[in-house]
Amino acid sequence: LPKLPVFEAISKHDPESTVVIHSKSGRRFQYGELLGDVAKARDRLYESAGREDLDGERIAFLAENSYDYVANFTFPTHRQIHEADSVVQVTLLAILGAKSIAVPMSPAFPASELQYILNHSEALMLLATGKFASKAQEVLKTELDVQPTFLQLDKLQGGGPHEKVTLDKSSPGSAGMMLYTSGTTNRPKGVLIPQAAMTAQARSLIQAWEYAPSDHLLHLLPLHHIHGTINAIFTPLFTGSSIEFLYPFNADAVWKHLQEPAREAISPAHLRLTISGSAALPTPIKRAWADLSKGNILLERFGMTEVGMALSCGLDPNDRVDGSVGWPLPGVEARLVDVDTHQVIEKGQEKDLETGRERVGEIQLRGPTIFAEYWRNEEATKKEFVEGKDGRGSWFKTGDVAVRRPGPEKAGRSEMKTQREWARGDMYFILGRKSADIIKSGGEKVSALEVEREMLSLPQVAEVAVLAVPSGKWGQKVGAVVILDREHCKEGKWSPLEMRRALKERLAGYKIPQVLRVVDHIPRNAMGKINKKVLVKEVFREEFS
Ligand code: ATP
Ligand code: MG
Repeated sequence: LPKLPVFEAISKHDPESTVVIHSKSGRRFQYGELLGDVAKARDRLYESAGREDLDGERIAFLAENSYDYVANFTFPTHRQIHEADSVVQVTLLAILGAKSIAVPMSPAFPASELQYILNHSEALMLLATGKFASKAQEVLKTELDVQPTFLQLDKLQGGGPHEKVTLDKSSPGSAGMMLYTSGTTNRPKGVLIPQAAMTAQARSLIQAWEYAPSDHLLHLLPLHHIHGTINAIFTPLFTGSSIEFLYPFNADAVWKHLQEPAREAISPAHLRLTISGSAALPTPIKRAWADLSKGNILLERFGMTEVGMALSCGLDPNDRVDGSVGWPLPGVEARLVDVDTHQVIEKGQEKDLETGRERVGEIQLRGPTIFAEYWRNEEATKKEFVEGKDGRGSWFKTGDVAVRRPGPEKAGRSEMKTQREWARGDMYFILGRKSADIIKSGGEKVSALEVEREMLSLPQVAEVAVLAVPSGKWGQKVGAVVILDREHCKEGKWSPLEMRRALKERLAGYKIPQVLRVVDHIPRNAMGKINKKVLVKEVFREEFS
């Protein structure tokens, strides 16, 4: 195997310690067997490709959450044991071991979406498990620009001739991952994350979140996004922590799991760290979890496919301030650039001196954790980076806007500090996406996220999306699409007027939705996010004419 930091770290862990547990079967795998399995799987990739030079090739795979996502197994005995589970014979680490680019795909995607990813990534191979074989075949039957070699590795015991596809080799020639963005604002973009950036992301999180060999990570996420892959697989592999796959997510199953008497060490009260991200954490949910778990406070962080984790609250629960995503993680440099004046908002300039209002800025980031490029989209890559004036590299424009405020008073913080703790900074509060969440109404800027947060704390509201609706008078007006909480809204107990009245106690008048629609369903993508540009046109169709 090549000398990747992750392999070197794994080789130093206690070989007897557990790397992966399959929750359903209880089957455990040890660190001691991991690299051997990775090497074997890597060799099978070479064998199947008919060559050993796979540098920088994209290898797409469809795999369930299991040891075999992490490392490959080729022993028939193992396969027999796992026939029922349908073993995934494909692997993240084996692809990295071949110095190729791993392109994990979601088995939940429809064939058209998988086809898009295969075409777009120009994958050399598509690997799938028995369970997903027919799905893979279905995708391959559809028209692909480049026909990837389909390997269902469990059928390839003896090896055999495979169709080889030679691709343009202008691609970056080293190991890495290509993750697709959630596709909230447009078609998913292919984000190329070199192995070095993956490693930098892992190191940053180890320092900030203090991953340790004694950690046991309950893995409940899909494996084609940054948190599920880098934060929750790649990073614990560095520290020798164990990963337990309990997927697909089911709240009852997880709760039962945490309550099992034999698992006292991971009962809710003992959870070392629970994390929320991907979208704003509604305060009522944070509170509900704290109640349910008898005091466990969710840590909120801000991340993106392009940058990994960038901002995070601290391990000290006093540093987990409602509505804040914390400060820059170790190794990450962040700045706020005023959305009106385009000036960098330096420390101490967070308020406009004339108006006394907080200045709203776009978050820009740089550092070793940032991605390399949008795959085959030079234009987008160019557009989203801005040259730094200090000659220390360019900044990535996240497209998310925020305000920055001083952190909680030092005196108020508990003494939970450790040597590894990274320096606290001022705290960022995300207002939303520049493109969809900042509503400009009559010269005022309204954060959709702030209004959503307040609306969600009304007992009548189960779900809400706050959007910019065009207005002849105000430019834009604040609109809300609401799903009512049935319990609280039985016949006659609810009216828009009443809701506005309740909001008056919480929000300035100009932030209160002027138009409000009640719906039964708000469409969300696989990551639970809402494409507001599409939603607003659907719900407020007449306002666009
Ligand atoms: P696409 O780029 O394809 O439109 P996406 O931006 O949703 O999709 P991801 O990279 O998965 O794809 O998500 C990153 C985005 O998620 C961030 O840019 C930000 O808007 C949002 N986000 C992440 N964490 C938080 C958070 N804690 N609070 C608010 N928003 C968050
Ligand atoms: Mg995005």
